[in-house]
Amino acid sequence: MAYQTLYLKYRSQKFGELVGQDAIAQTLKNAVEQSRVAHAYLFSGVRGTGKTSTARILAKAINCLNLQGAEPCGVCTNCVEIGSGAAVDLIEIDAASNRGIDEIRDLRERVKYLPAVLKVKVYIIDEAHMLTTEAFNALLKTLEEPPPHVVFVLATTEPHKIPLTVASRCQRFDFRRIETGAIAARLAMIVDQEKVRVDPGSLALLARLARGSMRDGITLLDQLISQGGEELTVQKTHELLGLADPDTLVRMLASVTEGDAAQTLGQLQTFYDAGGDVRQLVRGLLGAIREAALLSVGYKDQEGLGGAPSAALEKIGRAAGRNALLNLWKGLMEMEPELRKGADARLLLEVTLLQNMSQPVPLLVTPALPAADAVGGERVIEPAMAPAESVAGPDARWDALKNRLPKPVASLLMDARLVAVRDGLVRIEFRYPAHAELMQKASNRETMLAAVRDIFGPDARLELVAADKPAEPAAGSPPARTSASIADDPLVKEAMNRFDATNVRVTPRGRG
Ligand SMILES: [Zn+2]
Repeated sequence: MAYQTLYLKYRSQKFGELVGQDAIAQTLKNAVEQSRVAHAYLFSGVRGTGKTSTARILAKAINCLNLQGAEPCGVCTNCVEIGSGAAVDLIEIDAASNRGIDEIRDLRERVKYLPAVLKVKVYIIDEAHMLTTEAFNALLKTLEEPPPHVVFVLATTEPHKIPLTVASRCQRFDFRRIETGAIAARLAMIVDQEKVRVDPGSLALLARLARGSMRDGITLLDQLISQGGEELTVQKTHELLGLADPDTLVRMLASVTEGDAAQTLGQLQTFYDAGGDVRQLVRGLLGAIREAALLSVGYKDQEGLGGAPSAALEKIGRAAGRNALLNLWKGLMEMEPELRKGADARLLLEVTLLQNMSQPVPLLVTPALPAADAVGGERVIEPAMAPAESVAGPDARWDALKNRLPKPVASLLMDARLVAVRDGLVRIEFRYPAHAELMQKASNRETMLAAVRDIFGPDARLELVAADKPAEPAAGSPPARTSASIADDPLVKEAMNRFDATNVRVTPRGRG
Protein backbone atom coordinates (compact mmCIF):
# COMPACT_ATOMS: atom_id res chain seq x y z
CA MET A 1 0.00 0.00 0.00
CA ALA A 2 1.29 3.44 -0.94
CA TYR A 3 2.47 5.66 1.87
CA GLN A 4 -0.36 7.74 3.23
CA THR A 5 0.55 11.01 4.88
CA LEU A 6 -0.17 11.17 8.59
CA TYR A 7 -2.45 14.11 7.91
CA LEU A 8 -4.73 12.03 5.70
CA LYS A 9 -4.43 8.96 7.87
CA TYR A 10 -5.50 10.81 11.01
CA ARG A 11 -8.02 13.16 9.46
CA SER A 12 -11.14 13.46 11.64
CA GLN A 13 -13.90 11.14 10.44
CA LYS A 14 -16.66 12.15 12.87
CA PHE A 15 -17.92 15.36 14.46
CA GLY A 16 -16.71 13.98 17.78
CA GLU A 17 -13.13 13.73 16.47
CA LEU A 18 -12.88 17.36 15.38
CA VAL A 19 -10.30 19.08 17.54
CA GLY A 20 -10.81 22.56 18.90
CA GLN A 21 -14.10 23.30 17.11
CA ASP A 22 -16.57 22.01 19.68
CA ALA A 23 -19.25 24.66 19.19
CA ILE A 24 -19.31 24.20 15.42
CA ALA A 25 -19.40 20.41 15.74
CA GLN A 26 -22.30 20.60 18.21
CA THR A 27 -24.34 23.01 16.07
CA LEU A 28 -23.92 20.83 12.98
CA LYS A 29 -24.81 17.68 14.94
CA ASN A 30 -28.00 19.34 16.13
CA ALA A 31 -28.85 20.34 12.56
CA VAL A 32 -28.31 16.76 11.33
CA GLU A 33 -30.37 15.26 14.16
CA GLN A 34 -33.23 17.69 13.62
CA SER A 35 -33.02 17.46 9.81
CA ARG A 36 -32.44 21.19 9.67
CA VAL A 37 -29.27 21.22 7.57
CA ALA A 38 -28.93 24.50 5.69
CA HIS A 39 -28.54 24.74 1.91
CA ALA A 40 -25.34 26.71 2.10
CA TYR A 41 -22.55 27.07 4.64
CA LEU A 42 -19.62 29.42 4.77
CA PHE A 43 -16.68 27.98 6.72
CA SER A 44 -13.99 30.56 7.40
CA GLY A 45 -10.71 30.32 9.27
CA VAL A 46 -6.96 29.94 8.82
CA ARG A 47 -5.63 26.92 7.00
CA GLY A 48 -5.52 23.61 8.76
CA THR A 49 -8.29 24.32 11.26
CA GLY A 50 -10.66 21.62 9.99
CA LYS A 51 -12.89 23.40 7.46
CA THR A 52 -12.65 20.79 4.70
CA SER A 53 -12.66 17.88 7.14
CA THR A 54 -15.86 19.23 8.69
CA ALA A 55 -17.43 19.65 5.26
CA ARG A 56 -16.69 16.00 4.44
CA ILE A 57 -18.08 14.80 7.77
CA LEU A 58 -21.22 16.83 7.12
CA ALA A 59 -21.49 15.30 3.64
CA LYS A 60 -21.31 11.82 5.19
CA ALA A 61 -23.76 12.64 7.97
CA ILE A 62 -26.47 13.85 5.60
CA ASN A 63 -25.99 10.88 3.29
CA CYS A 64 -25.32 8.10 5.80
CA LEU A 65 -27.67 5.13 5.52
CA ASN A 66 -27.18 4.16 9.15
CA LEU A 67 -26.73 7.36 11.12
CA GLN A 68 -25.49 6.87 14.70
CA GLY A 69 -27.20 9.71 16.52
CA ALA A 70 -25.80 12.59 14.46
CA GLU A 71 -22.58 10.83 13.52
CA PRO A 72 -21.98 9.07 10.21
CA CYS A 73 -21.54 5.32 10.62
CA GLY A 74 -18.42 5.26 8.46
CA VAL A 75 -19.19 1.80 7.05
CA CYS A 76 -22.30 2.10 4.86
CA THR A 77 -21.78 2.33 1.09
CA ASN A 78 -22.39 6.10 1.09
CA CYS A 79 -19.93 6.73 3.93
CA VAL A 80 -17.30 4.51 2.31
CA GLU A 81 -17.77 6.11 -1.10
CA ILE A 82 -17.42 9.61 0.32
CA GLY A 83 -14.46 8.53 2.45
CA SER A 84 -12.61 7.06 -0.53
CA GLY A 85 -13.12 10.20 -2.60
CA ALA A 86 -15.03 8.23 -5.24
CA ALA A 87 -18.49 9.70 -4.69
CA VAL A 88 -19.68 11.37 -7.89
CA ASP A 89 -22.21 13.36 -5.92
CA LEU A 90 -19.58 14.95 -3.69
CA ILE A 91 -18.07 17.64 -5.86
CA GLU A 92 -14.96 19.34 -4.53
CA ILE A 93 -13.97 22.46 -6.41
CA ASP A 94 -10.71 24.29 -5.88
CA ALA A 95 -11.67 27.84 -6.72
CA ALA A 96 -8.02 28.81 -6.98
CA SER A 97 -7.49 26.63 -10.05
CA ASN A 98 -8.54 27.38 -13.62
CA ARG A 99 -10.53 24.23 -13.70
CA GLY A 100 -12.45 25.49 -10.67
CA ILE A 101 -13.63 28.50 -12.62
CA ASP A 102 -14.89 26.29 -15.45
CA GLU A 103 -16.63 24.03 -12.98
CA ILE A 104 -18.50 26.93 -11.42
CA ARG A 105 -19.49 28.14 -14.88
CA ASP A 106 -21.52 25.04 -15.64
CA LEU A 107 -22.51 24.48 -12.02
CA ARG A 108 -25.87 26.15 -12.60
CA GLU A 109 -26.69 23.57 -15.25
CA ARG A 110 -25.56 20.59 -13.23
CA VAL A 111 -27.18 21.40 -9.89
CA LYS A 112 -30.58 20.82 -11.47
CA TYR A 113 -29.94 17.11 -11.81
CA LEU A 114 -30.71 14.78 -8.96
CA PRO A 115 -27.81 13.01 -7.26
CA ALA A 116 -26.75 9.80 -9.01
CA VAL A 117 -26.13 7.72 -5.91
CA LEU A 118 -26.20 9.77 -2.73
CA LYS A 119 -29.25 11.29 -1.08
CA VAL A 120 -27.89 14.81 -1.34
CA LYS A 121 -25.34 16.35 -3.69
CA VAL A 122 -22.67 18.22 -1.78
CA TYR A 123 -20.53 20.92 -3.35
CA ILE A 124 -17.41 21.84 -1.39
CA ILE A 125 -15.86 24.98 -2.83
CA ASP A 126 -12.40 25.44 -1.36
CA GLU A 127 -10.62 28.82 -1.38
CA ALA A 128 -14.04 30.23 -2.31
CA HIS A 129 -12.75 33.82 -2.08
CA MET A 130 -10.80 33.13 -5.29
CA LEU A 131 -13.96 32.83 -7.40
CA THR A 132 -14.36 35.39 -10.16
CA THR A 133 -17.22 37.89 -10.13
CA GLU A 134 -18.84 35.88 -12.92
CA ALA A 135 -18.60 32.70 -10.86
CA PHE A 136 -19.98 34.40 -7.75
CA ASN A 137 -22.93 35.66 -9.78
CA ALA A 138 -23.64 32.17 -11.09
CA LEU A 139 -23.43 30.85 -7.54
CA LEU A 140 -25.64 33.63 -6.24
CA LYS A 141 -28.44 32.70 -8.65
CA THR A 142 -28.25 29.10 -7.46
CA LEU A 143 -28.26 30.10 -3.80
CA GLU A 144 -31.25 32.34 -4.43
CA GLU A 145 -33.38 29.32 -5.33
CA PRO A 146 -31.50 26.33 -4.00
CA PRO A 147 -32.60 22.93 -5.28
CA PRO A 148 -33.66 20.76 -2.32
CA HIS A 149 -31.15 17.99 -3.12
CA VAL A 150 -28.04 20.17 -2.95
CA VAL A 151 -25.88 21.46 -0.08
CA PHE A 152 -23.07 23.96 -0.65
CA VAL A 153 -20.08 24.41 1.63
CA LEU A 154 -17.87 27.38 0.84
CA ALA A 155 -14.52 27.22 2.64
CA THR A 156 -12.27 30.25 2.79
CA THR A 157 -9.28 31.69 4.60
CA GLU A 158 -10.38 35.20 3.60
CA PRO A 159 -14.10 35.62 4.34
CA HIS A 160 -13.98 39.40 3.78
CA LYS A 161 -13.44 38.68 0.09
CA ILE A 162 -16.72 36.82 -0.23
CA PRO A 163 -19.37 39.19 -1.59
CA LEU A 164 -22.02 40.03 0.98
CA THR A 165 -24.69 38.92 -1.50
CA VAL A 166 -23.30 35.38 -1.30
CA ALA A 167 -22.17 35.38 2.35
CA SER A 168 -25.57 36.55 3.56
CA ARG A 169 -27.21 33.51 1.96
CA CYS A 170 -24.95 31.12 3.84
CA GLN A 171 -24.90 29.95 7.43
CA ARG A 172 -21.50 31.08 8.62
CA PHE A 173 -19.08 29.30 10.94
CA ASP A 174 -15.76 30.80 11.98
CA PHE A 175 -13.17 28.12 12.66
CA ARG A 176 -10.83 29.12 15.47
CA ARG A 177 -7.12 28.56 15.51
CA ILE A 178 -6.64 25.34 17.41
CA GLU A 179 -5.10 25.70 20.86
CA THR A 180 -1.47 24.67 21.18
CA GLY A 181 -2.32 22.16 23.91
CA ALA A 182 -5.00 20.51 21.78
CA ILE A 183 -2.59 20.16 18.85
CA ALA A 184 0.07 18.68 21.15
CA ALA A 185 -2.45 16.18 22.53
CA ARG A 186 -3.46 15.09 19.03
CA LEU A 187 0.19 14.69 18.04
CA ALA A 188 0.76 12.59 21.17
CA MET A 189 -2.11 10.32 20.15
CA ILE A 190 -0.63 9.94 16.66
CA VAL A 191 2.90 9.04 17.83
CA ASP A 192 1.33 6.54 20.18
CA GLN A 193 -0.56 4.90 17.33
CA GLU A 194 2.48 5.02 15.07
CA LYS A 195 4.63 3.54 17.81
CA VAL A 196 7.40 6.09 17.58
CA ARG A 197 9.03 7.65 20.61
CA VAL A 198 8.88 11.40 20.65
CA ASP A 199 9.83 13.59 23.60
CA PRO A 200 6.76 15.52 24.88
CA GLY A 201 8.92 18.66 24.65
CA SER A 202 9.27 18.05 20.90
CA LEU A 203 5.51 17.69 20.53
CA ALA A 204 4.97 20.95 22.41
CA LEU A 205 7.51 22.62 20.12
CA LEU A 206 5.78 21.32 16.98
CA ALA A 207 2.41 22.40 18.34
CA ARG A 208 3.75 25.93 18.87
CA LEU A 209 5.27 26.01 15.37
CA ALA A 210 1.92 24.94 13.92
CA ARG A 211 0.40 28.22 15.17
CA GLY A 212 -3.15 27.00 15.38
CA SER A 213 -3.10 24.80 12.29
CA MET A 214 -3.58 21.10 12.98
CA ARG A 215 -2.54 20.30 9.43
CA ASP A 216 0.77 22.15 9.83
CA GLY A 217 1.42 20.40 13.13
CA ILE A 218 0.80 16.91 11.74
CA THR A 219 2.77 17.66 8.56
CA LEU A 220 5.77 18.76 10.64
CA LEU A 221 5.52 15.60 12.72
CA ASP A 222 5.35 13.51 9.54
CA GLN A 223 8.45 15.22 8.20
CA LEU A 224 10.32 14.62 11.47
CA ILE A 225 9.41 10.96 11.75
CA SER A 226 10.44 10.30 8.16
CA GLN A 227 13.82 11.95 8.76
CA GLY A 228 14.50 11.18 12.34
CA GLY A 229 13.82 7.53 12.85
CA GLU A 230 12.37 5.97 15.94
CA GLU A 231 13.27 8.37 18.70
CA LEU A 232 13.00 12.13 18.69
CA THR A 233 14.37 14.43 21.35
CA VAL A 234 13.92 18.19 21.59
CA GLN A 235 17.54 18.61 20.53
CA LYS A 236 17.08 16.39 17.50
CA THR A 237 13.86 18.19 16.58
CA HIS A 238 15.70 21.49 16.55
CA GLU A 239 18.44 19.99 14.41
CA LEU A 240 16.14 18.29 11.92
CA LEU A 241 14.01 21.37 11.44
CA GLY A 242 17.09 23.60 11.33
CA LEU A 243 15.58 25.67 14.12
CA ALA A 244 17.36 28.11 16.31
CA ASP A 245 16.80 27.18 19.92
CA PRO A 246 15.04 29.84 22.02
CA ASP A 247 18.27 30.90 23.76
CA THR A 248 19.96 31.59 20.43
CA LEU A 249 17.01 33.68 19.30
CA VAL A 250 17.02 35.70 22.52
CA ARG A 251 20.78 36.31 22.33
CA MET A 252 20.65 37.30 18.69
CA LEU A 253 17.70 39.63 19.15
CA ALA A 254 19.50 41.23 22.09
CA SER A 255 22.61 41.84 19.98
CA VAL A 256 20.61 43.34 17.13
CA THR A 257 18.52 45.61 19.33
CA GLU A 258 21.62 46.72 21.20
CA GLY A 259 23.21 47.59 17.87
CA ASP A 260 26.13 45.22 18.38
CA ALA A 261 27.06 44.37 14.80
CA ALA A 262 30.12 42.26 15.54
CA GLN A 263 28.27 40.10 18.03
CA THR A 264 25.27 39.68 15.73
CA LEU A 265 27.44 38.52 12.85
CA GLY A 266 29.36 36.19 15.14
CA GLN A 267 26.16 34.56 16.38
CA LEU A 268 24.93 34.18 12.84
CA GLN A 269 28.22 32.51 11.92
CA THR A 270 27.87 30.07 14.83
CA PHE A 271 24.31 29.22 13.85
CA TYR A 272 25.33 28.73 10.24
CA ASP A 273 28.36 26.62 11.11
CA ALA A 274 26.13 24.33 13.17
CA GLY A 275 24.12 23.62 10.02
CA GLY A 276 21.18 25.89 10.91
CA ASP A 277 18.62 26.82 8.28
CA VAL A 278 18.66 30.58 7.71
CA ARG A 279 14.99 30.66 6.68
CA GLN A 280 13.98 28.96 9.90
CA LEU A 281 16.13 31.45 11.79
CA VAL A 282 14.27 34.31 10.12
CA ARG A 283 10.98 32.70 11.13
CA GLY A 284 12.26 32.22 14.66
CA LEU A 285 13.39 35.82 14.88
CA LEU A 286 10.01 37.04 13.63
CA GLY A 287 8.35 35.01 16.39
CA ALA A 288 10.75 36.37 19.00
CA ILE A 289 10.21 39.95 17.84
CA ARG A 290 6.45 39.50 18.00
CA GLU A 291 6.69 38.11 21.51
CA ALA A 292 9.06 40.87 22.65
CA ALA A 293 6.69 43.50 21.26
CA LEU A 294 3.62 41.93 22.90
CA LEU A 295 5.34 41.49 26.25
CA SER A 296 6.69 45.05 26.20
CA VAL A 297 3.13 46.41 26.18
CA GLY A 298 2.05 44.10 28.98
CA TYR A 299 0.36 41.34 26.94
CA LYS A 300 0.94 38.07 28.79
CA ASP A 301 -1.71 35.67 27.50
CA GLN A 302 -0.02 32.26 27.17
CA GLU A 303 -2.38 31.09 24.46
CA GLY A 304 -1.70 34.18 22.36
CA LEU A 305 2.03 33.94 22.94
CA GLY A 306 2.12 30.22 22.21
CA GLY A 307 3.92 29.42 25.46
CA ALA A 308 5.03 30.81 28.78
CA PRO A 309 6.10 34.47 28.58
CA SER A 310 9.88 34.95 28.37
CA ALA A 311 11.31 37.45 30.85
CA ALA A 312 14.36 37.92 28.61
CA LEU A 313 12.25 38.86 25.59
CA GLU A 314 10.15 41.21 27.72
CA LYS A 315 13.33 43.00 28.80
CA ILE A 316 14.52 43.25 25.19
CA GLY A 317 11.13 44.52 24.09
CA ARG A 318 11.02 47.24 26.72
CA ALA A 319 14.60 48.34 26.03
CA ALA A 320 14.29 48.39 22.25
CA GLY A 321 10.88 50.04 21.95
CA ARG A 322 8.10 49.39 19.51
CA ASN A 323 9.48 51.34 16.54
CA ALA A 324 12.79 49.53 16.54
CA LEU A 325 11.04 46.16 16.74
CA LEU A 326 8.64 47.14 14.00
CA ASN A 327 11.47 48.21 11.68
CA LEU A 328 13.31 44.99 12.28
CA TRP A 329 10.11 43.02 11.69
CA LYS A 330 9.49 44.84 8.41
CA GLY A 331 13.06 44.25 7.26
CA LEU A 332 12.81 40.52 7.94
CA MET A 333 9.40 40.25 6.27
CA GLU A 334 10.78 41.95 3.16
CA MET A 335 13.38 39.19 2.86
CA GLU A 336 10.79 36.64 1.79
CA PRO A 337 10.26 37.79 -1.83
CA GLU A 338 14.03 38.18 -2.26
CA LEU A 339 14.60 34.66 -0.97
CA ARG A 340 12.03 33.33 -3.38
CA LYS A 341 13.98 34.98 -6.20
CA GLY A 342 16.96 32.89 -5.10
CA ALA A 343 18.95 35.46 -3.13
CA ASP A 344 21.73 34.22 -0.88
CA ALA A 345 19.79 33.76 2.37
CA ARG A 346 22.71 34.24 4.69
CA LEU A 347 24.03 37.38 3.02
CA LEU A 348 20.54 38.83 2.88
CA LEU A 349 19.98 38.18 6.57
CA GLU A 350 23.31 39.76 7.48
CA VAL A 351 22.47 42.86 5.46
CA THR A 352 18.93 43.02 6.83
CA LEU A 353 20.04 42.76 10.45
CA LEU A 354 22.76 45.38 10.00
CA GLN A 355 20.38 47.75 8.24
CA ASN A 356 17.85 47.45 11.02
CA MET A 357 20.09 47.69 14.05
CA SER A 358 18.45 49.67 16.80
CA GLN A 359 21.28 52.12 16.87
CA PRO A 360 22.35 51.96 13.28
CA VAL A 361 25.79 53.23 12.61
CA PRO A 362 24.84 56.31 10.64
CA LEU A 363 28.29 56.69 9.18
CA LEU A 364 30.50 54.80 6.87
CA VAL A 365 34.06 54.78 8.03
CA THR A 366 36.80 54.87 5.48
CA PRO A 367 40.52 55.02 6.01
CA ALA A 368 42.01 57.62 3.70
CA LEU A 369 45.33 58.97 2.58
CA PRO A 370 47.40 60.68 5.22
CA ALA A 371 46.32 64.22 4.47
CA ALA A 372 48.62 67.21 4.44
CA ASP A 373 46.60 68.83 7.17
CA ALA A 374 46.87 65.86 9.48
CA VAL A 375 49.01 67.17 12.27
CA GLY A 376 51.38 64.60 13.72
CA GLY A 377 49.24 61.67 12.75
CA GLU A 378 46.20 63.19 14.42
CA ARG A 379 42.91 61.77 13.22
CA VAL A 380 41.12 64.30 11.13
CA ILE A 381 37.48 64.18 10.27
CA GLU A 382 36.63 65.99 7.09
CA PRO A 383 33.80 65.98 4.58
CA ALA A 384 34.03 63.65 1.60
CA MET A 385 36.19 64.91 -1.25
CA ALA A 386 35.63 64.52 -4.95
CA PRO A 387 37.28 61.38 -6.36
CA ALA A 388 41.01 61.85 -6.78
CA GLU A 389 41.18 60.21 -10.16
CA SER A 390 38.18 58.79 -11.87
CA VAL A 391 38.47 55.36 -13.29
CA ALA A 392 36.76 55.72 -16.63
CA GLY A 393 35.42 52.68 -18.37
CA PRO A 394 36.09 49.07 -17.51
CA ASP A 395 39.23 48.37 -15.55
CA ALA A 396 40.70 44.91 -15.99
CA ARG A 397 42.11 45.04 -12.47
CA TRP A 398 38.60 45.34 -11.01
CA ASP A 399 37.51 42.13 -12.69
CA ALA A 400 40.77 40.47 -11.66
CA LEU A 401 40.11 41.50 -8.07
CA LYS A 402 36.60 40.07 -8.08
CA ASN A 403 37.85 36.84 -9.65
CA ARG A 404 40.57 36.47 -7.07
CA LEU A 405 38.22 36.79 -4.10
CA PRO A 406 36.27 33.84 -2.69
CA LYS A 407 32.60 33.99 -3.67
CA PRO A 408 31.13 35.25 -0.38
CA VAL A 409 33.50 38.22 -0.35
CA ALA A 410 33.25 38.87 -4.09
CA SER A 411 29.46 38.92 -3.77
CA LEU A 412 29.76 42.04 -1.64
CA LEU A 413 31.33 43.78 -4.64
CA MET A 414 28.43 42.90 -6.94
CA ASP A 415 26.86 46.32 -6.59
CA ALA A 416 30.10 48.18 -5.92
CA ARG A 417 32.48 49.88 -8.35
CA LEU A 418 36.06 50.92 -8.50
CA VAL A 419 35.96 54.72 -8.57
CA ALA A 420 39.59 55.76 -8.26
CA VAL A 421 43.15 54.50 -8.02
CA ARG A 422 45.90 56.95 -7.06
CA ASP A 423 49.22 56.67 -5.27
CA GLY A 424 48.38 53.18 -4.08
CA LEU A 425 44.95 54.21 -2.78
CA VAL A 426 42.16 52.05 -4.14
CA ARG A 427 38.75 53.63 -3.69
CA ILE A 428 35.69 51.42 -3.94
CA GLU A 429 32.20 52.81 -3.87
CA PHE A 430 29.37 50.67 -2.48
CA ARG A 431 25.79 51.10 -3.53
CA TYR A 432 24.61 49.59 -0.25
CA PRO A 433 26.29 50.79 2.95
CA ALA A 434 25.51 47.44 4.57
CA HIS A 435 27.76 45.71 2.03
CA ALA A 436 30.58 48.07 2.96
CA GLU A 437 29.97 47.35 6.64
CA LEU A 438 30.16 43.62 6.00
CA MET A 439 33.38 44.11 4.10
CA GLN A 440 34.80 45.52 7.32
CA LYS A 441 34.32 42.23 9.16
CA ALA A 442 37.78 41.06 10.19
CA SER A 443 37.91 37.98 7.95
CA ASN A 444 36.49 39.77 4.90
CA ARG A 445 38.76 42.77 5.37
CA GLU A 446 41.91 40.65 5.50
CA THR A 447 40.93 38.64 2.43
CA MET A 448 40.03 41.81 0.57
CA LEU A 449 43.19 43.69 1.50
CA ALA A 450 45.39 40.75 0.51
CA ALA A 451 43.72 40.52 -2.89
CA VAL A 452 43.95 44.28 -3.41
CA ARG A 453 47.68 44.17 -2.63
CA ASP A 454 48.20 41.25 -5.00
CA ILE A 455 46.68 43.20 -7.82
CA PHE A 456 47.43 46.84 -7.09
CA GLY A 457 50.81 46.40 -5.45
CA PRO A 458 52.11 45.54 -1.96
CA ASP A 459 51.63 49.07 -0.61
CA ALA A 460 48.06 49.45 -1.83
CA ARG A 461 45.57 50.88 0.62
CA LEU A 462 41.87 50.56 0.57
CA GLU A 463 39.12 53.15 0.80
CA LEU A 464 35.51 52.08 1.02
CA VAL A 465 32.86 54.73 0.42
CA ALA A 466 29.11 54.76 0.18
CA ALA A 467 27.48 55.84 -3.06
CA ASP A 468 26.56 59.46 -3.11
CA LYS A 469 22.88 59.90 -2.53
CA PRO A 470 21.14 63.21 -1.98
CA ALA A 471 20.63 63.68 1.73
CA GLU A 472 16.97 64.15 2.49
CA PRO A 473 16.67 64.62 6.21
CA ALA A 474 13.10 63.86 7.19
CA ALA A 475 11.29 66.24 9.49
CA GLY A 476 11.97 65.23 13.04
CA SER A 477 15.08 63.26 12.19
CA PRO A 478 17.90 63.53 14.70
CA PRO A 479 20.36 66.36 14.14
CA ALA A 480 23.54 65.56 12.25
CA ARG A 481 26.39 64.44 14.42
CA THR A 482 29.22 66.82 15.11
CA SER A 483 32.80 65.93 14.31
CA ALA A 484 33.59 65.33 17.94
CA SER A 485 30.81 62.85 18.41
CA ILE A 486 31.78 61.08 15.20
CA ALA A 487 35.31 60.58 16.46
CA ASP A 488 33.89 59.25 19.69
CA ASP A 489 31.73 56.69 17.96
CA PRO A 490 32.97 53.27 19.06
CA LEU A 491 32.54 51.84 15.61
CA VAL A 492 34.61 54.63 14.08
CA LYS A 493 37.35 53.89 16.55
CA GLU A 494 37.12 50.20 15.94
CA ALA A 495 37.31 50.66 12.19
CA MET A 496 40.27 52.99 12.47
CA ASN A 497 42.10 50.42 14.51
CA ARG A 498 41.26 47.61 12.16
CA PHE A 499 42.49 49.48 9.12
CA ASP A 500 45.48 51.06 10.85
CA ALA A 501 44.09 54.36 9.76
CA THR A 502 46.09 57.43 10.55
CA ASN A 503 43.28 59.62 9.48
CA VAL A 504 39.70 59.00 8.71
CA ARG A 505 37.18 60.39 6.34
CA VAL A 506 33.58 60.01 7.18
CA THR A 507 31.05 59.81 4.40
CA PRO A 508 27.45 60.22 5.49
CA ARG A 509 25.26 57.37 4.53
CA GLY A 510 22.49 58.14 2.07
CA ARG A 511 19.68 56.90 4.21
CA GLY A 512 19.16 57.06 7.92
ZN1 LIG B 1 -22.86 5.64 6.96
